[in-house]
Amino acid sequence: MSEQKKCPHPACSCILGKGQSYCSAYCEGAKGTTTVLCECGHAGCKGEALKS
Ligand SMILES: [Zn+2]
Ligand SMILES: [Zn+2]
Repeated sequence: MSEQKKCPHPACSCILGKGQSYCSAYCEGAKGTTTVLCECGHAGCKGEALKS
């Protein structure tokens, strides 16, 4: 029922917690950049699953 918002970082697939604008300080700092990798370090984040 609760709305799940994705992290606004384009390469990040993390779901934000309540009241969060970004999943991590990394993503917040990376806004406005065109990086293709997310290095937030969260398990399951698409940004670090490119090795598969
Ligand atoms: Zn991420
Ligand atoms: Zn993120």
